[in-house]
Amino acid sequence: MVFYRKYRPQTIEELDSEVVRDKLTNILSRPSSFHALLFTGPKGLGKTSAARIVAKVVNCEKLNQKQTAKSRKLSVEPCNKCDQCVSITNGTNIDVLEIDGASNRGIDEIRDLREKIRLSPFQALKKVYIIDEVHMLTTEAFNALLKTLEEPPNHVIFILCTTEPHKVPQTIASRCFHMAFKKATANELVRAFLRIAKKEKISVDKEALFKISEFSDGSFRDGVKILEEIYSEVGNKKITKETVEKMHQAVNLDYKIGEMIKFLSEKNVKKAMLLVDKITTTGVDMKYFLEKLMLKLHELLLVKVGVSGEQSGMDILSIEDIRMLMDLLTNAYSKLKYSVLPQLPLEIAIIEWSTQDQSSVTLPHTAGDARNDLLQSRQNPRSLSERRQSEKKNFENKSKSAFSSPSDGQSNNTLWHELINKVKSQNHSIAGVLRGCSLKSYNEKKFVIEARFKFHKEKLDEKKSKEIIEKALFQIGGKRIPVSVMLKS
Ligand SMILES: [Zn+2]
Repeated sequence: MVFYRKYRPQTIEELDSEVVRDKLTNILSRPSSFHALLFTGPKGLGKTSAARIVAKVVNCEKLNQKQTAKSRKLSVEPCNKCDQCVSITNGTNIDVLEIDGASNRGIDEIRDLREKIRLSPFQALKKVYIIDEVHMLTTEAFNALLKTLEEPPNHVIFILCTTEPHKVPQTIASRCFHMAFKKATANELVRAFLRIAKKEKISVDKEALFKISEFSDGSFRDGVKILEEIYSEVGNKKITKETVEKMHQAVNLDYKIGEMIKFLSEKNVKKAMLLVDKITTTGVDMKYFLEKLMLKLHELLLVKVGVSGEQSGMDILSIEDIRMLMDLLTNAYSKLKYSVLPQLPLEIAIIEWSTQDQSSVTLPHTAGDARNDLLQSRQNPRSLSERRQSEKKNFENKSKSAFSSPSDGQSNNTLWHELINKVKSQNHSIAGVLRGCSLKSYNEKKFVIEARFKFHKEKLDEKKSKEIIEKALFQIGGKRIPVSVMLKS
């Protein structure tokens, strides 16, 4: 079972935040003093757990009460054994209701609630309504709730929880006893981790737990999750500070690789270069990073061709993109050994990649094509330079035939590149627009460009643009061919 759920605090003493423990002890020693509590704060800090403990304290049949020696305060704890306690822990107590504000936000639900609230509890002493994400309620629902809060029956306690306190109307908030759950301190987090480590018999030193607390951003839930992940990885071996650092770096690296792939797909040189810098300064081994990056691309490739399952949110590179990136990265990897700066080969690969036009040319691919493509590239692995050579040759053949042969993907591609290059020497901005478009089809009578965006089409339809493109085509094929631009549907 997930640690966080398994070790949900069941007593006030087990609650992680000291401020919350003190405040709850105070108000629960006088249970008749409040009708409504408002728990606010970020997710994962134990608001719901605390709410359930309150429900138990007010309903427990064998409440543990004692005068604490130190402060002489009355401490109260649920017994966690009586029928009331057990049923509340299991979520089966009919008098303790947990309501999700997000899915019960309408006035009808609240009206219904108001009707039921009037009825006395079945078995418990008090009915407890825990409304989670209370800020999601509609204004009408809030108004209905307010009426109940203004004259609450004695047998009812409300516990309103929210991550967004500013969305709770002041009229509601002012009728509640407010408790803010703050991000946990390192000491509080370590206290919580120790409680779990002890029960699970996890061998871990305190230094390691403090390290985990650094990565938890004040959230018990996040911290406990990290502890659980590390534990499931190392098993019975002792968890040290070094273990935590190493494991966390690995997790972190996955994230950085995701970012790198995103930046590459956007051809965002600046961001990609900054990321390389960050990776270098945080002391990540460049060889290791490149290996991981290529493994990830390989994974994406397998997803693309349907060999393995979905990789959500990562469908941003085409097969051709991935193949080219692999080429560039393999090249970078082989140069790593002799590089003066370890980051240099990757940086060069990024720059080379960003100046490739290939990916902006969208070939009409079908799933079947994609598989054939891959098979071909597997059976006949060619390096980038070899491929460029052959493309050049193709182009030369193409020039001779002067647009007369039927167009196919490969030669379209080459022709398109040549066109962009020719246009570039005349006008950079038109070349830039062309890079965002693709060649739809051509013959001796018509050269059809497909634009993805309306403003691209408009730009290319300008007289000046067409003249430049037609001139470039003339230079390539020795014929004047009228250019037309269509918008991709
Ligand atoms: Zn009890």
